[in-house]
Amino acid sequence: NNYAVDYIKATRWIKENLPFVKVSGGVSNLSFSFRGNNAVREAIHSVFLYHAIKAGMDMGIVNPALLQIYDEIPSDLRTLAEDVVLNRRKDATERLLAYADKMKNKEASHQIKEDAWRKEPVDKRLEHALVKGITEFIETDVEEARQQYPRALNVIEQPLMSGMNIVGDLFGEGKMFLPQVVKSARVMKKAVSYLLPYIEAEKQEGDRNAGKVVLATVKGDVHDIGKNIVGVVLSCNNYEVIDLGVMVPTEKILETAKKEHADVVGLSGLITPSLEEMVVVANEMKRQGFHIPLLIGGATTSSIHTAVKIAPGYDQPTIHVRDASKVTGVLSKLLSPRERQAYVEDIYKGYEKLRHDHENRQQQKKYISLQAARENQFKADWHAEIIQPPQLIGNRYFEDYPLEKLRAFIDWTFFFHAWKLNGKFPAIFDDPVKGEEARKIYDDAQQMLDKLVSEKWLKAKGVVGIYPAQAVGDSVEVFSENTQKLKTFHFLRNQEEKKAGYPNLCLSDFIAPKSSGLTDYLGFFAVTTGHNIEKQLKVFEADHDDYNAIMLKVLADRLAEAFAEKLHADVRKKIWAYAPDEAIEMKEILREKYRGIRPAPGYPACPEHSEKETIFELLRVNEKTGISLTENYAMAPAASVCGYYFAHPDAQYFNVGGLLSDQLEDYAKRKNLSLKTVKRLLNRNIAE
Ligand code: SAH
Repeated sequence: NNYAVDYIKATRWIKENLPFVKVSGGVSNLSFSFRGNNAVREAIHSVFLYHAIKAGMDMGIVNPALLQIYDEIPSDLRTLAEDVVLNRRKDATERLLAYADKMKNKEASHQIKEDAWRKEPVDKRLEHALVKGITEFIETDVEEARQQYPRALNVIEQPLMSGMNIVGDLFGEGKMFLPQVVKSARVMKKAVSYLLPYIEAEKQEGDRNAGKVVLATVKGDVHDIGKNIVGVVLSCNNYEVIDLGVMVPTEKILETAKKEHADVVGLSGLITPSLEEMVVVANEMKRQGFHIPLLIGGATTSSIHTAVKIAPGYDQPTIHVRDASKVTGVLSKLLSPRERQAYVEDIYKGYEKLRHDHENRQQQKKYISLQAARENQFKADWHAEIIQPPQLIGNRYFEDYPLEKLRAFIDWTFFFHAWKLNGKFPAIFDDPVKGEEARKIYDDAQQMLDKLVSEKWLKAKGVVGIYPAQAVGDSVEVFSENTQKLKTFHFLRNQEEKKAGYPNLCLSDFIAPKSSGLTDYLGFFAVTTGHNIEKQLKVFEADHDDYNAIMLKVLADRLAEAFAEKLHADVRKKIWAYAPDEAIEMKEILREKYRGIRPAPGYPACPEHSEKETIFELLRVNEKTGISLTENYAMAPAASVCGYYFAHPDAQYFNVGGLLSDQLEDYAKRKNLSLKTVKRLLNRNIAE
């Protein structure tokens, strides 16, 4: 009731009891700041607030940047802070100040240590720069080393390689993470490119590297982030890497491997049709009598698929490599005459078991006929109210969607996945092992996003189309506004034997059937954020900066997904407007807690990629957004997404799974394709 008195009392109490708090401001805006180091300051701030609220404080103004999660304050510091705030012991202040001083000394000595490495001998400095990923002094240090060694090549062979070996070991032991390795690689590349002219000038007969590797993303696929990371890791380990890029036909891979006398071929791919391409390459290698190992990698590849489908087609070691952290281990064994045989035998024993288990599982799975599955379809309760006529019928294009609007829709958990730091955002920052590194790449990503947005490195283009639609069997017909039939979309039905009460789903179940007499709607979309990316990538590549090149590709992918998410929200609230009042938080949006789904062709509910062609025709995707389809229906640029919008409240994602020949034949008939083509398109879904 008496502000002035309260103010005086409060400031006096603070001065007496909390000497490290600085009081400022006047009667109506009393504020205080905490001296001492950040950790102590944050602890005091958070403990103070926690107890003030517990004691019944109605309102306060706080600096959220200073708040820590109460439980996450180190317990010794928390006790000390509580002793002060709750006035629990006489020497509480002294004890907290002593703690703060101790911490400060630690920070200061850390600082001194940080610079101390510059005084070490040059070999140690190079090692330090590699392990820590510091490019700042690399050219000076490399030059110094070059003058000490007889040949420029020795600098690579000795100090640089021993630094990279440490990096490799730490990575292998899980003590270093992918982004750090890529940063180390950037240092290595800079060093090597500096030395290269000297090495060329000093070249001698008999110089050898660890081995020659031909890498390629297979025909029809455009995804190369994983392959690029593998290339970086290999070239840092003294392998000569010939990277043929993306969409590489079998002939080109094999011609290059022959011409270059490659020691190994590595194939990469992301979309499911690429798995088939890899089988083709393996068979062709056998036919042409190759004698070198084949490595298989990429997100949809697996040891099982390699064991069951690829390895049997080639009579040389065909090895699945789970990720970049494994590749040097695999290669050093494969290329070592001493270790190779035992290693391959061991892997192949594992493959034998995988094949055996796979067969058993196949036999245990029970399927029902297509007719029985159709009888057990999901029966939605179709009445007019459930269908919400859209605001838009036809297509709407977005020529140059503002990138800054997409930023908030990025799903950062997937960003960390791309860098192989698995964990949920934002909890990953508190992970005792990965937290620090996660924070660093997140900060780097934010910085790049700032530039990317303000300097318009990328162009976002997209299209939404919404059309009247009716289900006819497992297909959905879409119409123009004046009921002219435009296209038919063909979906697939799950044929697994289900427990009573569980339907055999097909996406067409979520669209009103023709027989209901109702007109329903089906939506479509395609978005890309990949245009113009090459220009900025070239800048990074010219600087031997794989880290930033990979970062940009990862961010472009994230922005494409963010664009899909944002557009979907706009569709629900405005464009189709079946959920105009939706008000859910970002977190809930990313957990798909809204009405409706946006399944994407190639994913489990609609695994057949060629349906993208029909979406592309209906929405004139290529002409209007510049996205194109490869012969295997991958979208180029790689940072693109397309799919359907289903608005029915019960619409859900599911897995079509294994298909019997009755459905394969039915599908061939519906799509007017040969059974052989359908079997190739649905290779991953053939049950028998
Ligand atoms: N937010 C993530 C992407 C989410 S992936 C990111 O930033 O990368 C989720 C998308 O995958 C869905 O929107 C849908 O398009 C697709 N999807 C997932 N499961 C599916 C399924 N079973 N069938 C079809 N599409 C599916």
